[in-house]
Amino acid sequence: MQVPLIDLKAQYAQIKPDIDQVIQEVLSAGSFIGGQAVSDFENSFAKKSNALHCISVANGTDALYISLKALGIKEGDEVITTASSWVSTASMIQHVGAIPVFVDIDPDTYTIDPSLIEEKITERTKVIIPVHLYGQMADMTKIKSICNKYNLYCIEDTAQAHFARLGDTMPGEVSDIATFSFYPTKNLGAYGDGGCITTSDDELAQRSRAYANYGNKGKDNILGINSRLDTLQAAILNVKLNHVDTWIDQRISHADTYDRLLKNVSQITIPTVKQQARHTYYAYAIRCQDRDQLQKHLSEKGVTTTIHYPTILPLLPIFTSLDHREDDFSVAYLHQQETLSLPIYAELTDEQITYVADCIRDFYN
Ligand SMILES: *Cc1c(COP(=O)(O)O)cnc(C)c1O
Repeated sequence: MQVPLIDLKAQYAQIKPDIDQVIQEVLSAGSFIGGQAVSDFENSFAKKSNALHCISVANGTDALYISLKALGIKEGDEVITTASSWVSTASMIQHVGAIPVFVDIDPDTYTIDPSLIEEKITERTKVIIPVHLYGQMADMTKIKSICNKYNLYCIEDTAQAHFARLGDTMPGEVSDIATFSFYPTKNLGAYGDGGCITTSDDELAQRSRAYANYGNKGKDNILGINSRLDTLQAAILNVKLNHVDTWIDQRISHADTYDRLLKNVSQITIPTVKQQARHTYYAYAIRCQDRDQLQKHLSEKGVTTTIHYPTILPLLPIFTSLDHREDDFSVAYLHQQETLSLPIYAELTDEQITYVADCIRDFYN
């Protein structure tokens, strides 16, 4: 049996008539930037995220960069973020000239550990960027109260957690800005690159939109870039937005099945989900003994897995000048050596999940 990490063709097969139709409509209209499909998408996405504004952009990396620019972050500022994420979270901090200040992760959820944030705050600190890693939200109640206490901005990197929830809160609801990616393999993915920013602050919305659109702001032109979601991707995302909750629920159901089949394997730790959380399972990341050998065994059995992420952010070559060591971030470092992400996507079957779990049990026996 073959079990890929994700199967984007299976998803397309489900929605083919609708997708083909909207692509045809865009091609026939001959208008490829902006227009109704883009504004429809922004309106629907904002509404579904309980935000006043959605500004679509070219990708999730740009969304982070533009957010930092819209907040006026510049050289000499410090931005606090997690030690464990995709590179963009930290590299965009460096791109605006600011210094990334890394914080170790919570050993259960792998998101930034709020109890370690305050000791990293200085008078140069301007922003905290939590990442809702693997599809589960970071502890926004604690993070937000730290932001209030020290008068800091908060940007939530939500590239992996569209429509996640923690209690009654969705990403972006309690902070200044949330950033999203529509990279094809994300829980809501385009057929190419895409991203957006949500905010309920009118001025931040205006500034982000201007910045992403050559800096056009009427006669007060500002320094900007060109970063837009194109019409074709918006039309595709409009179709997918109607299905995304079903797809997330299917991911959750598959994660429950994995949990049930793997929870008694003593060499494995299954994901911890916080009370009242909607974990959207962008990744089903287990911790396991003999990780590399297990990955090789699964690969020989036709099961594709991946490691999110092979190197923790503070130890990446681009941050050498910060002179970090493994034991400065011991929880993240250990997690990085033990973590393995199993196949998860809506169209995965129970037979496939059972097969993956059987292969894992065989390996340890
Ligand atoms: C995917 C991802 C990004 C970058 O998104 P792109 O659309 O690929 O630029 C940023 N942060 C996190 C946490 C991600 O997973």
